[in-house]
Amino acid sequence: MISATAILAASAPFWFEVERQGHHKLIGVAKVPQTPWAGGGLRLSIGGVRSPHVGEETPGTALPARCPERHLQEDRTFCVGLRRLEVDGPDAADRWWEQLRQWIRCQGVAERTGVWPPNQALDHGEAGVHHERALELARSIGLEEEYAAAWLGEPSWITDPDLRIVDRRGGPINGRAPCPRGCRRRASRNAPILRRKCARRREIASLVWMERLRLKSLDEYWRHVRASGTKCCGTMLTCPLRDDQNGTPEEEGGSPH
Ligand SMILES: [Zn+2]
Ligand SMILES: [Zn+2]
Repeated sequence: MISATAILAASAPFWFEVERQGHHKLIGVAKVPQTPWAGGGLRLSIGGVRSPHVGEETPGTALPARCPERHLQEDRTFCVGLRRLEVDGPDAADRWWEQLRQWIRCQGVAERTGVWPPNQALDHGEAGVHHERALELARSIGLEEEYAAAWLGEPSWITDPDLRIVDRRGGPINGRAPCPRGCRRRASRNAPILRRKCARRREIASLVWMERLRLKSLDEYWRHVRASGTKCCGTMLTCPLRDDQNGTPEEEGGSPH
């Protein structure tokens, strides 16, 4: 069977120069246009049997070795997507390279602005699965903008715990309360529509539920990252890890630096 890295080498895009090919391994330079590395390039090492992983050949050279906010993982590989793509032919190889190209473009934005493009981001770890599902739900009921704002931390009925929209299993409750979206009936003096009369009730409850699961997973993710001793790389405008470091008051007599 031809290896995934050999398939990738055979369909390498114009912006990637293959330098060396080994057993389930590929070394080369990525010069993605419109990025800070369009000229000098990023030296990458690609490896793996079926679903190749990729990282800097020497981690920490052009990019931080590790940064959760920049999707640079603990094992020093790039987190280019929620799932690693399996490369079993030229079409899959094209998708794999395109995913990497987009990731390097985002990396360029992060490098220049200190912000990861928000519409390109899925949350870290398990939270990403819930995030993806919530985005699908929001899209299906026309709440993309409202959900995007809630995701960025704007106050929203989607994240308001006082509204009591779902039960402990994610099912809709409080059918006689007004629809949380604020739907109204013109026919009867603009009276609010009751939840049980809202056609989207089930999807609305699922969205609220999924958002709750997402926040919980994200919390667990950061707890795990902190427990592993990961430090902030200092290249991003906001980073939960940096906030920790700044927030450690010296009078508490914590660990010396
Ligand atoms: Zn409604
Ligand atoms: Zn960082």
